[in-house]
Amino acid sequence: MSDALQGIEPVKSITTPVRLEYQFTAGRASTRFLHGMAEGKILGQRCPSCAKVYVPPRGSCPRCAVPTEQEVEVSGKGTVTTFCIVRIPSENLAIKPPFVAAHILLDGADIPFFALIHDCPFDQVRMGMRVEPVWVEKAQLAPTFESIRYFRPLDEPDAPYESYKEHL
Ligand SMILES: [Zn+2]
Repeated sequence: MSDALQGIEPVKSITTPVRLEYQFTAGRASTRFLHGMAEGKILGQRCPSCAKVYVPPRGSCPRCAVPTEQEVEVSGKGTVTTFCIVRIPSENLAIKPPFVAAHILLDGADIPFFALIHDCPFDQVRMGMRVEPVWVEKAQLAPTFESIRYFRPLDEPDAPYESYKEHL
C-alpha cells in the first residue's frame, strides 16, 4: 500500500447502475417461431427421440441432445402452472405494475410459456386456471412475442394438478 493510502479505510463496495444492450440472432428454430407469431400462430418443435414439444423451440432437445425439426402448431390454449403478481416498477418494463406474470403450459407443449394474464382480478388467478391468448390486431402481427398481448381466462374447469405437476 502506498504511503498516500496509509490510514485510509479501503472502499469495500460501491453501487453503480449497469446497462447492457445486445442483439439476438434468432437462428432457424426461433426464426420459424417468430414468423409464426407474425401469422398469428404458435409454432413449436417435437423431439424425434423423447417426443417432447418445445414452445418456443430452440432447435434441439436439451434432454436428448438431438435436433428438433418436426414443426408442431399449438392452439394457444393452456394451463397456468405458476404465476406471480408483480408490484415493483422497472424502467425496462413497458407495462406498469401491478400485473400478473405466469408460466402457461400450452396444450400440446411440454415446457411452460411465459406470458402476462389480464381480464381477470388478481385474486382469481390460480394454478390450473385455463387460459387463451389475446392477439394484437391482424395488421399489427409481427415476428415478436408481443404479437400476443396477454392471456385471459377461459370458461373451462381448472386443469387437475396431476396434468401439470411435472411442469412446475
Ligand atoms: Zn428429447
